[in-house]
Order: sequence, then structure tokens, then C-alpha cells
Amino acid sequence: MKRLIAFTVIVTIGIITAAAQSRKPAGTEHTGKAFRFNKVREGIYHAVGTGNLAVVGNSSFIVNDDDVIVIDDHVSPAAAWVLLDEIREVTKKPVTTVINTHFHFDHAHGNQIFDRNVTIIGHEYTRQMLLGNPLEMPLYKGYVTGLPGQLDTLKKRLAAETDPAKQAALRVQIAANQSNQKAQAELRPTPPNVTLTDRMTLYRGSREIQIRYLGRGHTAGDVVVFLPKEKVVMTGDFLTAGLSNMSDSYPDDWVKSLDELKKLDFDVVLPGHGEAFTDKAKIGYFQDYMRDVWTEVSRLKREGVSAEDAAKRADLTKHKEHLPINGPGVPLLGVQRIYALIDQRRP
Ligand SMILES: [Zn+2]
Repeated sequence: MKRLIAFTVIVTIGIITAAAQSRKPAGTEHTGKAFRFNKVREGIYHAVGTGNLAVVGNSSFIVNDDDVIVIDDHVSPAAAWVLLDEIREVTKKPVTTVINTHFHFDHAHGNQIFDRNVTIIGHEYTRQMLLGNPLEMPLYKGYVTGLPGQLDTLKKRLAAETDPAKQAALRVQIAANQSNQKAQAELRPTPPNVTLTDRMTLYRGSREIQIRYLGRGHTAGDVVVFLPKEKVVMTGDFLTAGLSNMSDSYPDDWVKSLDELKKLDFDVVLPGHGEAFTDKAKIGYFQDYMRDVWTEVSRLKREGVSAEDAAKRADLTKHKEHLPINGPGVPLLGVQRIYALIDQRRP
């Protein structure tokens, strides 16, 4: 009997410490809430940054009978730490499982705060990319090397600003940038410790949580998290509320893979950027846009236009009714990606 009691105590301690490393990471300083939690179903939340802390991508979390599952963990160990802090205001249940929708920095760079008892699930490709050299990937490099310049710009704007409300907003952005630079300095990209290539299902009581790979798209290893009973899908950057970056994408495959998403029976999308939405027509709008980006950029390449010029000239403004497009132009990393894909495929 004594032995049983001792065993129970150890197990309990194990659960308490299962959520995160004990040392608080650098750069968690912020005022107010870092996240706004949008409860879309009982126990299902979409976490969107308020701007008080740099978190960049959205996450979601699912509160089950005995545990919590987190989908994506933001731009830094600090952002993930604060996410867990704020989740604890909703539930004291331990986070046992993290799912990475893909390897990008703004979705998977919080992984390092979770201790070894936490299962971090991602596609096999996501693991490979995070084990590789993610700090040298152009998307991340561009982001992190841009932070000091952004800070300078914010400080200059503050010095020139006379409106107290705008000054206060700029001070928040400055503080978030400074915390983020501290956080990025101690980043150690950490890969998933459980991988899948096609699909995996987690069962928690009566809840079924499907992790589905629907084909190449935004990267070669994006997964979506689909709850068939609740009719909710978390899509990461495979489908956002607006445009999605193309730096590691397969735009032509993406259009087909989105057809697979359409086959799932859901009512609510919790995207990796932007607010939750119910309008499934957005999938079609984005497919049309991607098709036209491919056609337009390919055309410019055939005409011998440089990637830099094509990024300015590619005209997708006909999609502005449904997507956030203000004028001609496509992000340079996306154009470079399409140019590289065309070159690779040339016989
Ligand atoms: Zn991404």
C-alpha cells in the first residue's frame, strides 16, 4: 500500500511538470494580455495575438477531459511560455501534446519550452526542416535581421508623434520588438518528437482529433487538424484568412491539395493568420489567386523579366475583392520560389 502511495505521488509530480521547462525564457516581458482567446466550441479556442507581445502566427488549443492539446506555438520560446501562462487562466489541465502545422518560425519556434514528456507531433518533413538549418532559411533570416531596423523606425516615429494615444501604441510596439529580440537570441529550434506522413488520429474521451496531410502546398509538410464531430479545422498557413507566404510552397500542387481540404466536413476554420471564419468560399478564392499567381509569374519569367521586377509587376489586382491586395505586386520570396521551381522542372 505504501509503495502504491509513493508511486501516485511521483506520477502527480510528473504531470505537473510535464507542461514546460522550469526556467522562464528571455523576452516574456509585456503588459496586458498577449492573446485573445476566441472560444469557437466547448473546449476549443483560437488564440490570436493582441500585439502586446510578438507572437506572429495564431495558435489553437483543445481542452480535453484530462489534458490540453496545443496547435502551433508561435515565434519564440517566450511567446509559447506566455501562451501557456494564459491558457492556465482557462484550465489547469496539463498540456501533454503540441501539434506543429508546419516548420515555419512563427508556428514552431516555441517548441523548445516543452519538456521531453510532451509529445510534439508534426509531419516527417517538418522534423527534417527543423533538424536542418531553420535559422538560415530566407523567410526566418529576413524576419529576424529586420527586427533592429523596425525598432529604429518605431523609435523615430515615436519621437515625431504628438498624439498621446498614438505615442502609447508605439511604445507597446517598441516594447514588443525589444522583448522579441531578447527571445530570438536564445532560440534553439526543436523538432517534433513524433512524426506522421499521411494521417494520425488522437482520441481523448469522446473527442476525435485527426491530423491530416493533404498534399504539398504552403510547404511540403503542412498538416491540418480536423475535429469531425465538432466540425472544426485548424489550417495553419495552408489556408489563412488572407494571403499566405509562398517562400517554401508548391503553388500548383497547393491548388489540388486545397481540393482535399474541401472534402472535409467542417463549419469553422481556425487559420494560422487572421480571424476564424466560416465562409468556405474562401478556399476557392485562394485557389483562383494561386492559379493566377503561377500563370502570371511564369509569363513574366518567359519574357525574361528578373524576379525582382516580376515581384513589382505581377498583377493580381483582379482578386482584390476577396483578398487583401492593394495594387500590383507579389512578395519577392514567392516569385523567387516560382522561378526556382520552373528552373528545377525544366527537362
Ligand atoms: Zn508558414
